[in-house]
Amino acid sequence: MMDYAKRAKRLEPERAFSMLERISRIVAAGQNIIGFHIGEPDFATPENIKTAACSSIHANRTHYSPPSGVPDLRIAIADHISKTREIQVSPEQVVVSAGTKLAIFCAIMSCVESGADVLGPVPAYPAYPSIASLVGANYVPVPFIETDRGFRMDLDRLANAVTPNASMIVLNSPHNPTGALLPREDLERIAEIATEHDLWVLSDEIYSRLVYDGRFASILSLPGMADRTILVDGFSKAYAMTGWRLGFAIVNRTLAGLLDTFMANVHSCTATFTQYAGIEALTGPQHEVEKMRLKLLKRRDLMVTELNHIPGFRCHMPPGAFYAFPNVTEACQIAGLADADQLQDALLELAGVAVLSMTAFHGPRDPKADQYIRMSYATGDREILEGTRRIRDFMYARIGLPLRHN
Ligand code: PMP
Repeated sequence: MMDYAKRAKRLEPERAFSMLERISRIVAAGQNIIGFHIGEPDFATPENIKTAACSSIHANRTHYSPPSGVPDLRIAIADHISKTREIQVSPEQVVVSAGTKLAIFCAIMSCVESGADVLGPVPAYPAYPSIASLVGANYVPVPFIETDRGFRMDLDRLANAVTPNASMIVLNSPHNPTGALLPREDLERIAEIATEHDLWVLSDEIYSRLVYDGRFASILSLPGMADRTILVDGFSKAYAMTGWRLGFAIVNRTLAGLLDTFMANVHSCTATFTQYAGIEALTGPQHEVEKMRLKLLKRRDLMVTELNHIPGFRCHMPPGAFYAFPNVTEACQIAGLADADQLQDALLELAGVAVLSMTAFHGPRDPKADQYIRMSYATGDREILEGTRRIRDFMYARIGLPLRHN
């Protein structure tokens, strides 16, 4: 009988993408929207990288490559990771993929059995719980909790959540959506837990080059973690290359072999000329990366300052990534809205601003819990000023105060 596999229905759509569809319908109806919903830098990919891609096409680097990637890219990635994570990584440990997301997918598929527990952050990049559910695993939430000084992964909850069923811990630092950075002492404790219970650690470090306060640390750098750590990273955020689809995993050699077979089965290889562009990205001049980081730092300060002038919004200064994650519990209350989902919809439909509610990140659908929304500041200063002005006007109108003009 013709039917759809149950597993296909276990995958969740990603709301950042479904929001794009909603926005295009609203824009087609003539309304203007300021978008803070998608995690994508508005910068152009640096010229030297684009030139390298075009030259590769003209040089006919347009055929299949080995499933794990062209050797020179694997060498460039191994060098980059060896330098930045202060641990020797060999090119045989590198598996290139069409985006970091595919590396996450193949890693969970290769390491987690159906019925096992995957302990991961909440709120979370939605691919982690969705892919865990595809393989039939249980995603066990480890909350990022708000403290006076920002968000922290609740390590006591992590320690208590480990059962004999546990198979993998997922880390993401800097963290999407809170922007939090895992300090080295937290990584040390997580490494102890992973070692004691013999667990995989999937460490998503895609925002590692977008840090504004404090120091980025990788769990891969800690003694004894090389075998059990699956480090995933990519080119999308650091080099403004989201549409190129280029990422990678750093794994032990046995898992590298399994992932190679995985890549051969799912897509044969990542587009060859984009891989050559990736070599240029890593080995060419790096000043564009720093320029983009400094611009994002200014935008972060602007976004957070403006958000803290909106009634009912309270926002910490996030140390990394490019998201603000304001607490909007009070905003929902004073605007007469049940929760962050309702605020998200009202801002889209009534204020012309696209944000994502915490439920887009596996956050609880519980009006009694603290409510948050995620707002990407990887967009222009003008958009940040206009979008936050619209939200402020919306809140003023909702609570019956005269509009404030500045
Ligand atoms: N991990 C995290 C935490 C992300 O935020 C994203 C993109 N939003 C990805 C992975 C996916 O990146 P890529 O474009 O390389 O697939």
